[in-house]
Amino acid sequence: MWGAIEHLGRDDRTRGYLRDAWSPADLELRQWFRQEAARRGLDLREDRNGNLWAWWGDPSERPGVVTGSHLDSVRQGGAFDGPLGVVSAFAALDMLRAGGFEPGRPLGIACFTDEEGARFGVPCMGSRLLTGVLDPDRARGLTDDEGDSLAEVLRRAGRDPDELGRDTETLGHVGVFLELHVEQGQDLVHRDAPVGVASAIWPHGRWRFDFRGQANHAGTTRLEDRDDPMLPFARTVLRAREAAERGGVVATFGKFRVSPNNANAVPGLVSAWLDARGGEETAVRALVAELVEFSGAEVSAESWTPVVDFDVVLRERIAATVGGAPVLATGAGHDAGILASAGVPSAMVFVRNPTGISHSPEEYAETADCHAGVTALATALEDLCRS
Ligand SMILES: [Zn+2]
Repeated sequence: MWGAIEHLGRDDRTRGYLRDAWSPADLELRQWFRQEAARRGLDLREDRNGNLWAWWGDPSERPGVVTGSHLDSVRQGGAFDGPLGVVSAFAALDMLRAGGFEPGRPLGIACFTDEEGARFGVPCMGSRLLTGVLDPDRARGLTDDEGDSLAEVLRRAGRDPDELGRDTETLGHVGVFLELHVEQGQDLVHRDAPVGVASAIWPHGRWRFDFRGQANHAGTTRLEDRDDPMLPFARTVLRAREAAERGGVVATFGKFRVSPNNANAVPGLVSAWLDARGGEETAVRALVAELVEFSGAEVSAESWTPVVDFDVVLRERIAATVGGAPVLATGAGHDAGILASAGVPSAMVFVRNPTGISHSPEEYAETADCHAGVTALATALEDLCRS
């Protein structure tokens, strides 16, 4: 399975992945998912928001046990973030079948749409729409770098954007959700464990800062006559770092756009995106408030996810099932967190990442650890399908 998808959307110059939601690479990955489902005789359903579900058994009779992740990537991302969870889901199902297992309740494999938000700015779009925490009108109006709205992009992909929105029926099929994911940090390296179980996801959000000035000639405009928005932006980047250190949180300006983006022009507009996260919501909120005040920019909140505490009983049960795996918190958002917030008992299994590097071509997991992840997932699914 890994060999069938590893070239899709890969930039052969950098070895990084470009798998924006609804891009040609994403559509090929979705097609691959359908084929893997068909190969196993699973019942493939696409919900109103473009999420894919491959079912063994009928979840309309009884809510099922679901595992899976996403297939899109951040720009220039790694191979494992997302696809490891989907490939492991199919592999775990194969392992269970090879052992003669018959599930006592439906077993599903999910592929969530646009988890990273690389194209339209809102992460976990598929699960946020599914659970109704993202307003479908707002989603339809989001635009990508080309200025195309999600509604237009969906229409081009043969989907009906009017269908977007909370999908109670599909949500009702999910009795339990378990997501396997490559670790995005080095906790498991320090604990010398190939797999771990998530305790919580930090509260996190994204904000857009628009710094406005006056575009002008870089040679003929005197310094004192300039209104250069790059300067307050640069000061805000430094202030964000300082405020994050003071507040015990993390804050990142990882993306910005400059207009007109000419080497010989004073910019007229700088739009920049702040990503802020931390263990305490009040500390994250305080940092954002400070930066709004300090920057003088027009700021709009693009997404916010409160702290997610995964179901304690479920996570302890899974940790015990997979042989006393360590339990750890993460600063990364996931579809499992969105489902947990919507009241679906959810849990996550992490696979060790030797460098801890993620959202980069260097993201990696050893094959033996990936196999340990599949075994852990299969064991947990077998246990959950019994109840
Ligand atoms: Zn991911």
